[in-house]
Amino acid sequence: MTLMAFTNTFAGNPLDRASYRRGDAAWIGEQLAAPESLGVVIWNGKPLVEDAEGGGARIAYVSARMAGDLAGGPERLLFLGLWQGVAVFAVDLDGVADPADGPVQGLGRFEDLRMIAMTLPGTETGILATAKAMFEWRRKHRHCAACGQPSVVADAGWKRVCPSCDTQHFPRTDPVVIMLAVKGERCLVGRQAAWPRLMYSALAGFLEPGETIEEACARELWEEARLKTRRVRYHSTQPWPWPSSLMIGLIAEVENDDAVADQVELDEVRWLTRAETRAMLRGEIADAKAPGALAIAHQLIKAWAEEDGEV
Ligand SMILES: [Zn+2]
Repeated sequence: MTLMAFTNTFAGNPLDRASYRRGDAAWIGEQLAAPESLGVVIWNGKPLVEDAEGGGARIAYVSARMAGDLAGGPERLLFLGLWQGVAVFAVDLDGVADPADGPVQGLGRFEDLRMIAMTLPGTETGILATAKAMFEWRRKHRHCAACGQPSVVADAGWKRVCPSCDTQHFPRTDPVVIMLAVKGERCLVGRQAAWPRLMYSALAGFLEPGETIEEACARELWEEARLKTRRVRYHSTQPWPWPSSLMIGLIAEVENDDAVADQVELDEVRWLTRAETRAMLRGEIADAKAPGALAIAHQLIKAWAEEDGEV
């Protein structure tokens, strides 16, 4: 039996995060110096990858020592966890000059994570999503939110502390509900004008403070499409590190079918029968395309399309 009913791309990070060791600076230093320890290199959000034997790509690991040297100190370094007892770190690089033409020349190439994700092993997308989300957080939270002074990194990258007022800051995850509204044998998909041409997807929105997942789902369906939610079923979640979301995938049974796009978030909504939904996923409908398999929306639509009966 697996832990999750469905593992999305960017989920399934296999590392033992060993969070209880993060605060042990001496141990972290030993791991960083150990010759077998590994490093993941991220440059402007792009991971260093290489061609995998047999096709596709994989993470181009460097030694942890090299990652530490590239980081030049704890601020740009993250202890990701342990892989079968071996420590794995990540280093965050920025700047205009491509490090693949400089310090990591010959060790791999930097690729956009979203573009390359489907060619990577699923577990590696989980590792990279963790590193990317952490570095996005670090980049945008350099100052104390309580007093405005510069904060400093602690716990091997997993915390920031304000030296002025002692407030501790922890990485944040922003929950987003994404739901496929269904009524009987039809589901509702919508599109925004900014999306790729003819692409239709599940509806989505940020969870607000004070809301449950079910309430956020019902509010979003009402606001965006004037649908009344009767019942909500959980499908799966997906870490989405642009910059730090967690997509909570739901299938929502609704009461009415007179959906209307709000013309703010959505330009158009349309109902598809289960047969049409299957055809859309196969690319056989001329005027509607499904999101790619990378996206949890695709998996939600697919899961419902492949069900036989009622939700
Ligand atoms: Zn402060």
